[in-house]
Amino acid sequence: MERTYHPCHFCGGQVVEQRVTMDYRWGDELLAVIRNVPAGVCQTCGEQYLKSEVVRELERAAHAHEAPSEVLQVPVRELKVA
Ligand SMILES: [Zn+2]
Repeated sequence: MERTYHPCHFCGGQVVEQRVTMDYRWGDELLAVIRNVPAGVCQTCGEQYLKSEVVRELERAAHAHEAPSEVLQVPVRELKVA
């Protein structure tokens, strides 16, 4: 199924579907990193747009019970800017 996207809400740029990697968060908590997400990406400013069916699938994937394809361990650092 081909998804079409409106021009970018912010800059009017052309929005083209690409496969991206997204952080799935609940508040500050990083729940999952989801790869291969079809998103409309503005070719000018980089803003990303998701179709509602993709958001539903993202939520399903983030809470899935099957073993993840990979588990990442990432450093968490504090920014020391006043
Ligand atoms: Zn844009």
